[in-house]
Amino acid sequence: MRFDLVTIFPRLCDGPLGEGIVRRAIERGVVDVQVHDLRDYTTDRHRSVDDVSYGGGPGMVFKPEPLFRAVDAIRAGGDVDAVILTSPQGRRFTQREAERLAGLRRVVLLCGRYEGVDDRVRSGLATEELSIGDYVLSGGELPALVIVDAVVRLLPGAVGDDASVDADSFSRGLLDYPHFTRPAEFRGLRVPDVLLSGNHADIRRWRARESLARTLALRPDLLPSAELDDEERELLRALMDERGAEHGRD
Ligand code: SAM
Repeated sequence: MRFDLVTIFPRLCDGPLGEGIVRRAIERGVVDVQVHDLRDYTTDRHRSVDDVSYGGGPGMVFKPEPLFRAVDAIRAGGDVDAVILTSPQGRRFTQREAERLAGLRRVVLLCGRYEGVDDRVRSGLATEELSIGDYVLSGGELPALVIVDAVVRLLPGAVGDDASVDADSFSRGLLDYPHFTRPAEFRGLRVPDVLLSGNHADIRRWRARESLARTLALRPDLLPSAELDDEERELLRALMDERGAEHGRD
C-alpha cells in the first residue's frame, strides 16, 4: 500500500513516520509513504499556496491550483484509489474507516492549514473528506498521520503479531480487555489471580467478560453493532442483569 501526503510542513511528518511500527513497516516494504511539499507545485516566485478569502473575513485560504497540480503529478505516477481531504467537517474517521482504507492500494491525503482549502478542492478534487474528531486543529498533518498510523497497523506484516490487532479496541466493536505485566503485586495493587493461574480457558473467559464489562460501562453505544458470539451474548446478559440488580438496590 502507498500513501502520498501533501503538506506545506513536510518535516512535521518526519517524527511519526520515523519511529515504531510505521517506520518498521516502511523499512519492510509493507507500506510506502511519500510526503510532498505543496510549495513544489506552485508556479510563482514566492511559492505562495494561500490567498485571502473571497467575500472578506479573517484568515487565508489554500489556493486550488497547487493542490490540483500536486494530485495530477501523484496520479501521473500510478492509479490512485482515494484522494482524502482532511477536514473537521468530514465523515468521522473510525476503526471501520481504517479497515476500509487498509484494503486500498494508493491513498492521497491532503493537509489543509489556515482557514482551510478553497472549496473547489472538496467538490472537484477530493473523493472523500475525513475528520478525526469534533475539534479544530491548526493543520491536516496530524489527522493525516493519525490515519496513516491506524491503517498501517492493520496491514499484514506491520505489527509483530497480527493477532494483537484483532484483539484491539473497536476491531469487533468492543473495547479491549485490561492488560497487566510483572510484577504480580505493586504498591498493594494485585494482578487478578486468574491471570496468574495458567488456566487458559478461564483466562480467555475472564478477558471476554472484562472486554464486555468495560464496553458496557464506558462505551455502551458500541454494543448494538458489536460482533458477539454466543458465549459473549450470554456474558453480556449476565453483566446487564448484575447492573440491573445493582441499580435496583440503589
Ligand atoms: N475553517 C475550518 C473549519 O472551521 O471547518 C477549519 C480549518 S483548520 C484550522 C485547518 C486545517 O486543519 C483543515 O483544512 C484540515 O486540513 C485540518 N483539520 C483541522 N481539524 C481537523 C479535524 N478534526 N480532522 C481533520 N482535519 C482537521
